[in-house]
Amino acid sequence: MPSLSGVNENFPVSPPRAWAEIDLGALKRNLAVAREVCGGDGMMAVVKAGAYGHGLEEIAKALAAEDIAFFGVANVGEARRVRNAGVETRIYLLGATWAEEREEIVARNWTPCISSIVEAEHFNHLAAARGVRLKVHLAVDTGMGRGGFVAENLPEKLAQLERMEHLEIEGVGSHLPSADEDEEFTLRQFARFHAIIRDLGGESRFKWRHLSNSAGLLGYQQGCCNLSRPGLMLYGVSPLSGFQEKLVTVMSLKSRVTLVRTLPAGHGVSYGRQFVTTRPTRVATVGIGYGDGYPRQVSGKGADVWIRGRRLPILGRVTMDQLMVDVTGAEDVIEGDEVEIFGPHIPVAEIAEKADTIVWEIFTGITPRVTRCYHS
Ligand SMILES: *Cc1c(COP(=O)(O)O)cnc(C)c1O
Repeated sequence: MPSLSGVNENFPVSPPRAWAEIDLGALKRNLAVAREVCGGDGMMAVVKAGAYGHGLEEIAKALAAEDIAFFGVANVGEARRVRNAGVETRIYLLGATWAEEREEIVARNWTPCISSIVEAEHFNHLAAARGVRLKVHLAVDTGMGRGGFVAENLPEKLAQLERMEHLEIEGVGSHLPSADEDEEFTLRQFARFHAIIRDLGGESRFKWRHLSNSAGLLGYQQGCCNLSRPGLMLYGVSPLSGFQEKLVTVMSLKSRVTLVRTLPAGHGVSYGRQFVTTRPTRVATVGIGYGDGYPRQVSGKGADVWIRGRRLPILGRVTMDQLMVDVTGAEDVIEGDEVEIFGPHIPVAEIAEKADTIVWEIFTGITPRVTRCYHS
């Protein structure tokens, strides 16, 4: 467990009540696992949504020297932030672009995926006006239903794109909707994607061929693909069971005990008084709540925190800035103690499950109030 003493120096004048310790060494180890699993294929490190709440600039800078083919981002604003951090790695926009974004994409030579002829024509026009040839990837919808050309008459569509002289069709990609839920469908999707590439002229036709997110990369043979797009696994969480042991926790969300008191039997704890003590109860108040992105939905679901080497249960509802923990019998717990909200001892996946959501949402929901502290 990273010690707080080193991290403290990063704190602003007033230490935050909730902070996230981010282990950049663990991030790199997870990248190495991704590389190993897919047999050395190219890597598109997905850093959208502030690198899943881990901090876009810091994560991009940490990975920039790691032979990353592309950083995958959601929009032009994120692409700019990567560039402004001084990172020169190529940038790929993971979804359809909207018209207002395209001029800048062309001007800065970022790489869009193309979902329609109209989008392609616009890019071609903008690239022509600048006298450049823009590298783009053909997006194909093999089941996600979110973007890409539907898989009909694809050779004809590709021929149309190839007539656009200011575009270079450098890659082909698709996306997996249920690689962590439906193996049978996903296997068919891989087969379908491979057949599509064959029908479009074979592997040699595209420098980059990509389908896999983390679950696709961990759970499936990559076949004719040569680029993977891991997100979640880089941040230390496996979407598939059986692989978690290979990965290392990157983010530890922490807070501190701000108050310890003993409440008598029959005393309510937190809003709604959903929890009422049945015996004298030693209660620690901790300085984190849903205003920091800790999900209120775990209230009453038996979520634990970690203090002084013990799992201890949250009592009653999570409030905006504070939550209460039963420290009866944990007499050594005192005000000022560090609390692991999730991290190496309390898996974030456990919190996501109790909140009836997914780890992606927990990570991206951590609010700006939570100071991110980096170490390697
Ligand atoms: C977000 C995203 C990924 C990464 O998915 P993970 O499940 O986090 O690995 C890959 N590809 C696309 C198109 C995405 O939008």
